[in-house]
Amino acid sequence: MSTVPSPIPAPPAAGPLVLPDQAPPLAQVEQLVHASARIHGHLCPGQVIGVRMSILGLGLLGFGCPLGMPEIKHIVGFVEIERCLADAVAVATGLRFGRGSLRLVNQGLLAATFLDTVSGRAVRLVSREQPRQTALEMYPNESNPHTAQVLAYRVMPDAALFDAQWVRVPLAPDQMPGVRPPKVPCMGCGVLIRSGQVHRVDGRDLCALCAGKAYFLPVTPPQ
Ligand SMILES: [Zn+2]
Ligand SMILES: [Zn+2]
Repeated sequence: MSTVPSPIPAPPAAGPLVLPDQAPPLAQVEQLVHASARIHGHLCPGQVIGVRMSILGLGLLGFGCPLGMPEIKHIVGFVEIERCLADAVAVATGLRFGRGSLRLVNQGLLAATFLDTVSGRAVRLVSREQPRQTALEMYPNESNPHTAQVLAYRVMPDAALFDAQWVRVPLAPDQMPGVRPPKVPCMGCGVLIRSGQVHRVDGRDLCALCAGKAYFLPVTPPQ
C-alpha cells in the first residue's frame, strides 16, 4: 500500500442509500443495451445489468449516462468481473480500460463501483440474485430463461435489481485518472516498467517477470 495520502477527499456524510422503486426511461435503457450488445457480440442478461448499473451508479453521483464532459475526466469505474458486465459498463458509461478510467478488479462478482475523484463520493452496486427468478415469473411463457431475464431487467425497479452502498476508494496519487506514473527501469532485465506496476523485492525494483509473477510459462524447444 502507498504511504502517500490519497488525494481523494473524504466523501461527505451520506445518509442511507435508498434506491428508486422504478426503472430509468426504457428508451435510454434500450438505446444503451443495443449499443452495448453490438460491441459485445451478443445480447445477454449481463448487458442489461451492466447498462442498468451504469445509469443508476452515475445517477447516484449526479451524472447522466453516458458521461459527458468534463465529468468523464474525473470519474473512475471499477468492474468486479471480466465478462459481459464489463463490456456493458464500458459502452454505457464511456469509461475505458485504455484510458485508465475503467479498472478491472476481478473478484468474480456482478458488481461495480463508480468513484467521483473530485467529490470523493463513490457508490458500489451489487447485482441481486432474486431477479433471476422474478424474471421467469414476469415472463412465464418465455421458454428461454435468458430472454426472460433480458426483457425483465430492462424494466425492473432499481431497488429490486441492486444492493447499493456508499464506499470510499482510496486511490493512490499515481493511480488518479490522467496521471502517468514515471517509467522505472527493471533492475533485473532493464525493461521499462510503466503504469506504476513495479514490484519491490528485497529493495530492488523489478518487473513482474523478474519478480516471479509472470502469467505465462516459457516454452523451450525440444532438444
Ligand atoms: Zn454476454
Ligand atoms: Zn525485469
